[in-house]
Amino acid sequence: MARINDNYLKLQAGYLFPEISRRVNEFTAANPGANVIRLGIGDVTKPLVPAVLKAFHRGVDEMADQSTFHGYGPEQGYDWLAQIIIDKAYQPLGVELKTSEVFISDGSKCDSGNILDIFDLGNKVAIGDPVYPVYNDTNVMVGRSGDINEQGYYDGLVYMPCTEENGFNPDFPSEKVDLIYLCYPNNPTGTVATKEQLKAWVDYAIKNDSVILFDAAYEAFITEPDIPHSIYEIEGAKQCAIEFRSFSKTAGFTGVRCGLTVVPEELMGTTASGEKYSFNKLWNRRQCTKFNGASYPVQKAAAAVYSDEGWAQVKEIIDFYMENARIIREGLTAAGIQCFGGINAPYIWLKTPEGMSSWDFFDKLLNECYVVGTPGSGFGPSGEGYFRLSAFGDRENIETAVQRIREKWGK
Ligand SMILES: *Cc1c(COP(=O)(O)O)cnc(C)c1O
Repeated sequence: MARINDNYLKLQAGYLFPEISRRVNEFTAANPGANVIRLGIGDVTKPLVPAVLKAFHRGVDEMADQSTFHGYGPEQGYDWLAQIIIDKAYQPLGVELKTSEVFISDGSKCDSGNILDIFDLGNKVAIGDPVYPVYNDTNVMVGRSGDINEQGYYDGLVYMPCTEENGFNPDFPSEKVDLIYLCYPNNPTGTVATKEQLKAWVDYAIKNDSVILFDAAYEAFITEPDIPHSIYEIEGAKQCAIEFRSFSKTAGFTGVRCGLTVVPEELMGTTASGEKYSFNKLWNRRQCTKFNGASYPVQKAAAAVYSDEGWAQVKEIIDFYMENARIIREGLTAAGIQCFGGINAPYIWLKTPEGMSSWDFFDKLLNECYVVGTPGSGFGPSGEGYFRLSAFGDRENIETAVQRIREKWGK
């Protein structure tokens, strides 16, 4: 009989979101009239903007016409989309890239998992704590870790606690590592790194021959002018970093699926015999073998995000979400609850009042305010005592949620 990949059995059975659903269902069954407001899930709520929809439709129509039909596209994505991304998203930051360095995909969750294909299993990996669970679990799946220990850490992986003391910007790993995951603006903490902070990471990576896997899925939500949108704004980053971006949160593509991964040609690793080799070549080979490109209409839709009309419409929605974030942040702060994030990211990371555990606060918020959020402990042991609220949602619900919390905790 075929053997399974036993590494999967080391994973905790998707505990967080099923447990949230279970508690919410139990509550709504017992309180059928309660207007429960869900600020828990990291998904957008606004539909595609008109300019994107128009391009998407046009792309579909082209597929229906013999003279404009498209079959397989390039595995790396269409050059015209890569060029638009370079011109509109990177050049304004002073970052020069070639289209051969930009790989279009069906989203950055898959890319950030798939990237492990091009790294030796013997590499040491450092991840944040709390963290976007994909980085942790994909490393467990490929067999880079041992079992989970009592503290909730997997043996063999190196964790970098993100705490109030370090401003949720982790210290360098406690031992030498080969791969470092960084996510800015951060999910779940909503915090960002300054140019100086990123510069320190780049210098560290170059000095230690490590590769930074930089997740910039939320870069479009940055509102403060001096915060870097890309790791390549930092000198030397092309020698040591891969960057992931996504149209999901930026342009409401969570159900459409489009992302991109930048693998600079200067980024080198070593072979078993110690020679230098280009990760760009490996990722290209990987994509050509295991991926057949994002769909043509989706790439047309993605290109429209960066048209003048498309960007103005997309930006308006981002601003709307960020106004939600401001309302949550200021409302909760006024109620005496300590909040982080929410300025350059659509997430507010709050410290639970009165030292409550994340799950105790979850229950209290649900039972007394009818508001659902995400317990910080679900993102890693250092998230205990914290709680994530999402700014994706409609204005009235957010105002009502904040009002209820203020009535409960307000002084
Ligand atoms: C939502 C999210 C993504 C985007 O994933 P897609 O697969 O592109 O939808 C990537 N990273 C983080 C941290 C996210 O929260």
